[in-house]
Amino acid sequence: MTKFALNFTFLLFTSLSAFAEGSANVWTNATGSLQADAHNPWFFNNTREVSYCIDIDEQNFGASSPVVREQISRALQFWNTEFSKVSLPSLPTFGGVQIASQNFQEVACSETTDLRFQFGTLDEKQLAFLVKPQDISAITVRTEYSAKDLRGKGFLYFSPAHGPLAYKADGYLQNTWSRENGEILYHALVHELGHVFGLSHMGSYGELMSEGYVESLLNQSVMMDGKLRLRGLNFFTLVKSSPTICPDAVLLKEWRQYFGLGATDKCVQFRFIHDQANELFAPTQMEVWASSHIAQVKQRVSVAELTVNRFNPIYLNLIQLPNEQEVFVKQELQEAGLGVFGVPMMGLTKRGNFLFEDGRVKRHVNVRFDQGSSAFYIDGVSPEGEIITLL
Ligand SMILES: [Zn+2]
Repeated sequence: MTKFALNFTFLLFTSLSAFAEGSANVWTNATGSLQADAHNPWFFNNTREVSYCIDIDEQNFGASSPVVREQISRALQFWNTEFSKVSLPSLPTFGGVQIASQNFQEVACSETTDLRFQFGTLDEKQLAFLVKPQDISAITVRTEYSAKDLRGKGFLYFSPAHGPLAYKADGYLQNTWSRENGEILYHALVHELGHVFGLSHMGSYGELMSEGYVESLLNQSVMMDGKLRLRGLNFFTLVKSSPTICPDAVLLKEWRQYFGLGATDKCVQFRFIHDQANELFAPTQMEVWASSHIAQVKQRVSVAELTVNRFNPIYLNLIQLPNEQEVFVKQELQEAGLGVFGVPMMGLTKRGNFLFEDGRVKRHVNVRFDQGSSAFYIDGVSPEGEIITLL
């Protein structure tokens, strides 16, 4: 069996900040006891309207109000689409659980606002809670929770580029929020809103919901040759493409044979075209695009039609239902046998054959996709029937 270790430059980030933003930040309650529901989504579909407001220190933050407003809308839309791809529990009276499906309305900030987006601003109480905000790139804090309605309220803070609250870390990329019309801010907003929608930290460094994700965005290593190298975002949807990979000579030889690369091809990008209506279980088209240099235009060299071969649960984002809750009928929960209640995530293996553009030899391939991850794994089968790890 051949095994290759790949050196993904896009995964290599340098130093990590000592204080990573946390996933389950809640104001300590009166008794100081552990809040088991700290990771719950802040809203279910019994809550139809969610208000949010924008509080920004435009002078210091490093991106303007219109830019942050647009990125908040995009990030909310991202999760609305992603959560529509999950099989969430369903109960007779309540119906199907939906997350991130609310009507989000921007309002002027007040005591009753559900979500307060704070760009470079903190009040006295928040300052005291965060202790040393200069060490925090971004943070989401639930300040109130109605156990009866399963409804939360809180703030999402993003550190400013300048001023006394400015984020201080080694290797910090200056003026991050203003780059590429707020694209990095968009990624940070998606991560923080993921916590609002009940997702905990998971996955390896650099993955969307991983610990240290926001710090990774603010690090200089997010730039390469003067260009941003952000990965495309996906969570419950399956990954759509890989970065351009220029492998070492040994692996390149294997890929050349396997994927039908031309003699001068050195860099490869894998692309996946999923069925929009049934991404997980319908066939996926896998395409291999190649070029002789990382910056050169790629040509499609081979295609495989992949169909589902295997699927298995890999993770459950647990939802804790407090005794006081009046959203779900207790008896129905018991009858449904939902001892555990949550957002399920799956791993899927899809299998197919490669057909080269010139109609040459077919090759078998297995591709594994995991929900919650932008990584994927490719195995091939040698003519002798051995499994070959290709990615
Ligand atoms: Zn986080």
